[in-house]
Amino acid sequence: MNHRYRKTIIAGNWKMNKTLTETKAFAEEIKPMLGKPKWCEVVLCVPYVNIPAAVRLFKDSRIAIGAENCHYESHGAYTGEVSAEMLKELGVKYVIIGHSERRQYYNETDFTVNKKVHAALEAGLYPIVCVGESLEQRELGVTMELIAYQVKAALAGVPADKMRHVVIAYEPIWAIGTGKTATAEQAAEVCESIRVVIRKLYGARVARAVTIQYGGSMNAKNAAELLAQPDIDGGLIGGASLKPADFTTIVNAANQE
Ligand code: PEP
Repeated sequence: MNHRYRKTIIAGNWKMNKTLTETKAFAEEIKPMLGKPKWCEVVLCVPYVNIPAAVRLFKDSRIAIGAENCHYESHGAYTGEVSAEMLKELGVKYVIIGHSERRQYYNETDFTVNKKVHAALEAGLYPIVCVGESLEQRELGVTMELIAYQVKAALAGVPADKMRHVVIAYEPIWAIGTGKTATAEQAAEVCESIRVVIRKLYGARVARAVTIQYGGSMNAKNAAELLAQPDIDGGLIGGASLKPADFTTIVNAANQE
């Protein structure tokens, strides 16, 4: 973490979890526990249907609400889809784009990720852009090249002045939901390489200011070590974000001066 140059952001990704009733119970439990963290921003990315309630429930807290996906068009004949503009109007601040589960199950490609990044920025949302390698790709030794490609493809055509709204999440696919966490060294190495790619694209000032999260089985036990790495500016957290106590512990690990 490096508060001097960039924001630390802890974002929960609820995926397809929690009903409206469970969302209300979660809010009641976590709000007094979490207080008002000073050194990090806290985000909860929740299922679309829970967004209006979540915005209302967390209005008086420091928790911003995010979505887990959006469409790349602003409107049109796309049955079942939701646009970035619709999310913005509900009070959403962040949107996860290119999560590996969407790449794996819903045909998300680097091309659609790029279009969605543009749509999110156009609507005034902050995209959390996910990149990450599979176990096979790591074993083949192509992680750095692949991540550089994914970052460049996602950011194609994004001007430098919009980069202060972009968050990158490094999420090795083999670590998501598996209980296998990248070591602090592995995570730090890739996050640092992402900053190098951004420096080459946009220069040192933009690279220094961009928030780069780690995601992949981050939990109450391993968060502090991961977050202590200078190029890891927060986390994207799945499983552990469903439990108020665990999520609070992770936020507290990030909320250090
Ligand atoms: C995620 O969904 O982005 C994620 C990192 O999940 P988990 O923390 O459960 O591995």
